[in-house]
Amino acid sequence: MTNVLENEVAVVTGGASGIGRSIARRFAAEGADIVIADIQDAPREGGEPTHELIDEETDAETAYVECDVSSVDNLESGVAAADEFGGVTVMVNNAGIFHGEEFLETEEEAFDRMMNINVKGVYFGAQAAARRMVEADGGSIINLSSVAGLEGAGEFVTYCGTKGAVRLLTYSMAAVLGSEDVRVNAIHPGLIETTMTTDDVSIIGSDDEDAFLEAIPSRRAGQPDEIADAAVYLASEQSSYVTGESLVVDGGMTNT
Ligand code: NAD
Repeated sequence: MTNVLENEVAVVTGGASGIGRSIARRFAAEGADIVIADIQDAPREGGEPTHELIDEETDAETAYVECDVSSVDNLESGVAAADEFGGVTVMVNNAGIFHGEEFLETEEEAFDRMMNINVKGVYFGAQAAARRMVEADGGSIINLSSVAGLEGAGEFVTYCGTKGAVRLLTYSMAAVLGSEDVRVNAIHPGLIETTMTTDDVSIIGSDDEDAFLEAIPSRRAGQPDEIADAAVYLASEQSSYVTGESLVVDGGMTNT
């Protein structure tokens, strides 16, 4: 590791599991202090809480805050928790949910829940962080969209809508915040091996897996660490002139 995130303080929503857990661990290994803001502190599939693992693995300061990103108050508390480490400089709006649906059968409650977590959570997470970054020395905001934010899919109408919204929220926030030295970018993962894709929407390990992999030039699912690498780049000074951008990390799925 090269300590490219030394002196950074990152808040990672959904940092207990999957992609967020990998991002939090990689950021800490690169020298950042970390706040995990999640509805639970440990991975959904079980295991050690992320902040305790980081504590063992690195010298980083780390904390867990119980935070439901669909609540603006909870997000404010999550971001405020970084104040004890000097204040947020990197905000990763990663928490999200994914499930398939029959469009004609979708009910209001399910629609609202996904919108509140995937879209409202990103909007107000970014706002809470940006208010501090504008007052301080700027920062980097990273929003987790998806390849589903680039293309439609009949079985995932609401999810695609939320991830498309994250893409345009990202571009619009970048327009507002650029002159304040706050960069805002989106990562668009393809098929990544987490509980989301093994259990919530069973793709990996299912009978359909081979058909999915046929559409991916790399012929495999990605790993959470491969998304964390992209996040380190967007969090660090190595991307100092990159804002309002979509970084697609999908093994070539989208453009081929
Ligand atoms: P995951 O289900 O493994 O982890 C999600 C984390 O978010 C969990 O720790 C969970 O507790 C937390 N969370 C859920 N609801 C929350 C809420 N209301 N408030 C706070 N935290 C909450 O998912 P993942 O695969 O790591 O996905 C992370 C992000 O990446 C999501 O936004 C997802 O849409 C996006 N993404 C994932 C994939 C993939 O293939 N896994 C592909 C594209 C985009």
